[in-house]
Amino acid sequence: MVNFMLYITAELENLTNFQPKGGDDDPNFTYYFKLKCENCGEVTDKETRVSLSEELPLVKKGTANLIQKCKFCKREGTVTCDPGWRLSAYS
Ligand SMILES: [Zn+2]
Repeated sequence: MVNFMLYITAELENLTNFQPKGGDDDPNFTYYFKLKCENCGEVTDKETRVSLSEELPLVKKGTANLIQKCKFCKREGTVTCDPGWRLSAYS
């Protein structure tokens, strides 16, 4: 398993905070990502939805927030979000 940290940058004017509506642990906030297959390198055509509220059971053990097969090589990949993630604004 590989862990990634999501960094977002933005130029803010007259704002002191930047986070998803409902807070950074909002289970109903949906993120959209373009995903790259670690096996063949294929990148998804469209953005894929990921949210904390969608939990899918894994075959072995536990859950994932997204389970998706690569359209090119058919390898299955999963995304699991850490609910402790934080989005911070830097000026
Ligand atoms: Zn692939």
